Amino acid sequence: MTDTSSTVNPYNGKPFSSKYFKILEGRQKLPITEAKDQIQRLVRRYQTVLLVGETGSGKTTQVPQFVLEMNPEGAIACTQPRRVPAMSVSERVAEEMDVTLGDEVGYTIRFDDVSSDKTRIKYLTDGMLLREAMTDPLLKKYSVIILDEAHERTVHTDILIGTIKELIPKRPDLRVIVMSATLEEKKFQKYFVDAPLIHISGRMFGVEVYYCRAPESNYVEAAIRTATQIHLYEGPGDILIFLCGEDEIETACERLQNGIVIAEHSSANCHKGPVAVLPLYSSLPPQQQKKVFRAVPEGTRKIVVATNIAETSLTIDGVVFVVDCGFSKQKVFNPKLRIESLLVTPISQASARQRSGRAGRTRPGKCFRLYTRKAYDTLLQPQTHPEILRCNLGSIVLHMKKMGIDDLVHFDFVEPPSPETLMRALELLNYLKALDDDGFMTPAGDQMAVFPVEPEMAAMLIHSPEYKCGTEIAKICAMMSVQNPFIQNNKEFTRSNYAKEQFYHQTGDHLGLLNTYLAYEANDGNIDWCHENYLNHRSMKQAQNVVRQLVGIMRRLGLDMSSDSSADMQFANHIRRAIVRGFFTKVALALPTKNQFITLKDDVKAILWPATFLNRRPQFVVFNELVLTSNQYLRTVTAISDDWLLESCPEYFAVDEFEGVTRQVFEQLHRRQKAEQAPSKKRARAVDVVGGDSDSD
Ligand code: ADP
Ligand code: MG
Repeated sequence: MTDTSSTVNPYNGKPFSSKYFKILEGRQKLPITEAKDQIQRLVRRYQTVLLVGETGSGKTTQVPQFVLEMNPEGAIACTQPRRVPAMSVSERVAEEMDVTLGDEVGYTIRFDDVSSDKTRIKYLTDGMLLREAMTDPLLKKYSVIILDEAHERTVHTDILIGTIKELIPKRPDLRVIVMSATLEEKKFQKYFVDAPLIHISGRMFGVEVYYCRAPESNYVEAAIRTATQIHLYEGPGDILIFLCGEDEIETACERLQNGIVIAEHSSANCHKGPVAVLPLYSSLPPQQQKKVFRAVPEGTRKIVVATNIAETSLTIDGVVFVVDCGFSKQKVFNPKLRIESLLVTPISQASARQRSGRAGRTRPGKCFRLYTRKAYDTLLQPQTHPEILRCNLGSIVLHMKKMGIDDLVHFDFVEPPSPETLMRALELLNYLKALDDDGFMTPAGDQMAVFPVEPEMAAMLIHSPEYKCGTEIAKICAMMSVQNPFIQNNKEFTRSNYAKEQFYHQTGDHLGLLNTYLAYEANDGNIDWCHENYLNHRSMKQAQNVVRQLVGIMRRLGLDMSSDSSADMQFANHIRRAIVRGFFTKVALALPTKNQFITLKDDVKAILWPATFLNRRPQFVVFNELVLTSNQYLRTVTAISDDWLLESCPEYFAVDEFEGVTRQVFEQLHRRQKAEQAPSKKRARAVDVVGGDSDSD
């Protein structure tokens, strides 16, 4: 927007396209445009500036461009708590500047980097900027760092804020802008003393809020019913529905698309017209995500069914009606049980206000809350709890140590995490030998921190060369890091199950995932082959990309990547031993009671996830996830031998560490091991046969 009369793009010397001018017209009307001079002036004068502005006022797309006009020497980083906005906003800004994405404007998210040396404005997840700070603690590459969506208070944003605060005195040339939709202003002003605060008042229209008279037992049903009523009996305007996850959203979309036509037929005196029902959630392919921003034909009503991604991060123009289910999926960590789960949890009052605000951006709107007024007043917390108070800190603590922050207790957190959660993280890292007994980083920890995965996975990767299965472990990690590749088709249940059976491995899911990946490779990543075999091609492609990156890191670290895949079952055992080296804190023991397992030390009872490959009941399984729904499930499980436990971390499995049922088992195990170690009584234990483990039933 530097020079509106110019017809040549200063960034690439090409004439501006007609689309550029069309977008420019819209940009000039954004509320933030009026504050441009003030923002530039304050950024020039102060090292840190706080900026609060209504969602949709233009913060994320415009502020980096305002700063770019000031010609900073280095690049501009703009952080986002979520991957989807990082991608979609950078694409939008590339369009606004009429440049190719990846050149002057780019993005970096985990396992995906679309930026280059040319990149002047880079959108990146705050986790990725933290990673960059590990290798470049002064973040010298950047002249300006914009911390966007600070109100979301993800754990990465919080750590980043603390890190940047420490960086400010060391980098007098650095400029920092903290942006947010509903910043708890007082808290941030107290934290960044002397930073001026700019308020951007958006053009908000009034929103009438309606509550349910009685609580709704099923909010998905209620949302579908409400949206249908709006379509039939309200005037023009798009509808935005907030639900919690992919499954709910897909169900609602399908039901709405079909149901509305039927409702129109059977209702008198109602509005009739076509609808475009569109889902929006983070694991949706980018091409489909983009559809929500596209204009629909005149007379068509757009209905977007979204997760809370549409609450502040993305703005969909044209929304007049909001349907708010009152819940969102949130990470919850129980440090006692060491369970981190994504749970459907009531939103906060602040979130509810944000959601209703989405209805009043272009004209007065209406918000239908699928809960009672009383629930809003009494059950909803005023503010969302920051994530740092409710998540597992293992990988965060490892990053902080890697960045040289040793004194975690005195780190200037915006809000310090609970001592118990911190202790849990330190304990885990100590067992994984990433930290020594004094809490200092070990050489192994140093290597582990380089991998953009959880510490358990990183430990498994760095130990895999000892079992000559580095490449295989990288492939398993990749498959565990992407969205579930198996498409379960309810209509063609037998066929999709049959397809999955091809990848079966008798030891369980980890090797089943490896089989799946190897079959994909053997078929050259063919998309038709994926369809025929009920595999999500996008997940598989993503896994291939992750393998490339993990193997790249392993090579850079000088890890031996040779594989010894000669004897099949023996090799499978090696792979499983490597898995246990990383995941020995996630092991469960079979209980005599039907189908049940109990997790070691935390004593959580759970059953195997129904879709597991494992079709027998070994004494011990290693698992990746403990899922809490109506039942407790162990997900991604593999049968393991008890011998491998003691080998992986003797101090973790010391008898004194156990109580009750598990104690007896470990007493026996230690006795047996002692006997085996006595040279005269040495017997061969069959660990290298199928399963290797003594089945309990
Ligand atoms: P904020 O960060 O203040 O919430 P944004 O900068 O994200 O606001 O968006 C400002 C405006 O830019 C939006 O209201 C919308 O009109 C437009 N916009 C943003 N992203 C897109 C997109 N991907 N496609 C079309 N328009 C967009
Ligand atoms: Mg924004």
